[in-house]
Amino acid sequence: MASLSLEKMKDLDRKDPLRDKRKEFALPKGKIYLDGNSLGCLPKATVSRVNDVVTWEWGEDLITSWNKADWINLPARVGAQIARLVGAEADEVVAADSTSVNLFKVLSSALKMQSGRTKIISEKGNFPTDLYMMQGLIEQLGGQHELVMVDDDKVMDHLDDDVAVLSLTHVNYKSGQFYDMAAITKAAQDKGILVIWDLSHSAGALPVDLNGANADFAVGCGYKYLNGGPGAPAFLFVARRHHDKAQPPLSGWMGHAAPFEFDADYRPALGVKRHLCGTPPVIGMSALEESLKVFDDVDMAKIRKKSVALTNLFIELVEDKCADQGFELASPRDADARGSQVSFSHKDGFAIMQALIDHGVVGDFRAPNIVRFGFTPLYVGYEDVWNAVLILEKIMKNDIWKQDKYHVKSAVT
Ligand SMILES: *Cc1c(COP(=O)(O)O)cnc(C)c1O
Repeated sequence: MASLSLEKMKDLDRKDPLRDKRKEFALPKGKIYLDGNSLGCLPKATVSRVNDVVTWEWGEDLITSWNKADWINLPARVGAQIARLVGAEADEVVAADSTSVNLFKVLSSALKMQSGRTKIISEKGNFPTDLYMMQGLIEQLGGQHELVMVDDDKVMDHLDDDVAVLSLTHVNYKSGQFYDMAAITKAAQDKGILVIWDLSHSAGALPVDLNGANADFAVGCGYKYLNGGPGAPAFLFVARRHHDKAQPPLSGWMGHAAPFEFDADYRPALGVKRHLCGTPPVIGMSALEESLKVFDDVDMAKIRKKSVALTNLFIELVEDKCADQGFELASPRDADARGSQVSFSHKDGFAIMQALIDHGVVGDFRAPNIVRFGFTPLYVGYEDVWNAVLILEKIMKNDIWKQDKYHVKSAVT
């Protein structure tokens, strides 16, 4: 511990191979932003790109931009950029819709491919929208299917011949714990089960190898570690071997083999494109495309290495400087099982997080008692971690969080 000091942090930042990436972001002034796992920061280039799209592509060129600016191929282009980050082929991923809707789509396709099997296995602690979408789809399909929500460490025990689909989130949103994608996929496929991975907290945060793990389907979020902006389009992956078999439930014209023939009958496009539905949100998708360029010259292994160093450092510092303050580590201590976030449980977590945010350290709170901190290696440095923990220490030791104003809840936490 004695070896840790502000000087040491500055030195680590100087030696950081990703240090120049930070300059590509418009970071909020006077704040330490540890919430890139909820909403990633704004890449500077995205500001002028969105301005150009609105001013010129829309304002001047109007309808001609579908061809001239190639708006029509945005979902495939952005999909190809994301594919590189998640171990997929360029034409196995498209950007579209929201994560919730994409999960509905691929789950529906997968269930259809598994007729005769009735169970969907997921985890009790999965992100709620994923579970809600499964429940809604089961209703929609007439209730012949059953969702079995199991404890996170019991997934392997529930893989049997009645299971149609296993649907899991790779990195858990609360704890940051992640699954061994390859091992679980293999175990499920050995029983004839199709596997859907939600990569919302993985894409852009750590190396993911969908094809290395022989994944069947995946979905994920555009506004977290991919920095696409609020409500950015999400993405979906369908393994090439399923391209002909996976039938889209939302058979919109953008997924038609020839949308501009205006044929009265639906014919699905070849490949992953059939999982597009309606007209893409061009402004949002252009923002995502520009933001993804930040990843063009970085290696996910470097991002991962720094992420592990930052999260290890944060845990070590909190446990030293805020020992006996009621914090309990709620993420795996072993970095090999932890994504790019650290969570602590604390009975007064809500007020503590409000006080932290008010003092310039932005993390978030997840009910009932989790304070959560995301570390985006592209723009968070070692000195940030050090300063964040000093501010947390001050808030705890001076009882700042006890002030009434930190106990008022807003709609979004
Ligand atoms: C963030 C997140 C989502 C978000 O879904 P939206 O449809 O974009 O609101 C879904 N699933 C997981 C696991 C997430 O972390």
